[in-house]
Amino acid sequence: MKIVCVGRNYAKHIAELQNEKPTDPVLFIKPDTAILPPRNPLYLPEFAQEFHYEVELIVKISKMGKHIAPEFAPRYYDEIGLGLDITARDLQAKLKAKGLPWEKAKAFDNSAVVSPKFLPKTQFEDLNNIQFSLQRNDKVVQEGHTAEMLWKIDELIAYISKFFTLKKGDLIFTGTPAGVGKMNINDSFVGFIETKEMFRVNVK
Ligand code: MG
Repeated sequence: MKIVCVGRNYAKHIAELQNEKPTDPVLFIKPDTAILPPRNPLYLPEFAQEFHYEVELIVKISKMGKHIAPEFAPRYYDEIGLGLDITARDLQAKLKAKGLPWEKAKAFDNSAVVSPKFLPKTQFEDLNNIQFSLQRNDKVVQEGHTAEMLWKIDELIAYISKFFTLKKGDLIFTGTPAGVGKMNINDSFVGFIETKEMFRVNVK
């Protein structure tokens, strides 16, 4: 399986950076080796100094598809989860400055926290009206709402599937809202969809 991640998908985050809405979603991929085994602590690697948390809603693909039209996208997913797209920000800045690919900063081992359980999408009245949040050491550091997504879930699936065949079990990280920040050793992070705890991870 693979993880397809979307960059810059939240209006507030774009506004905060005083950027225009990008004309197309920014995409990158993490391999399956990027997934932190559930309930394991996160040991920060030594190849960078600054690791950032990015809480993101995750869509789990339920059947294979390519060139999926947005109106048919709902047939390709049944479950919603939550995770962290962990980013070696200092390394990413260096790669960006040189115009090089981001993989080393984004797709390294354990760079994807994925909630051990997913919620059936039928549990939500409106997928474009889901609130989620991240707490660091019991304080809320990020709060997002799917209504603020520049590209909604179905549009993302349509766009992504133009380039990449989506297979059952693939995960889509749908982008992070404002408020990203640095992870420190001994931090503990807890992610919530609405009031439901979805994952918990300790940094070592
Ligand atoms: Mg991200």
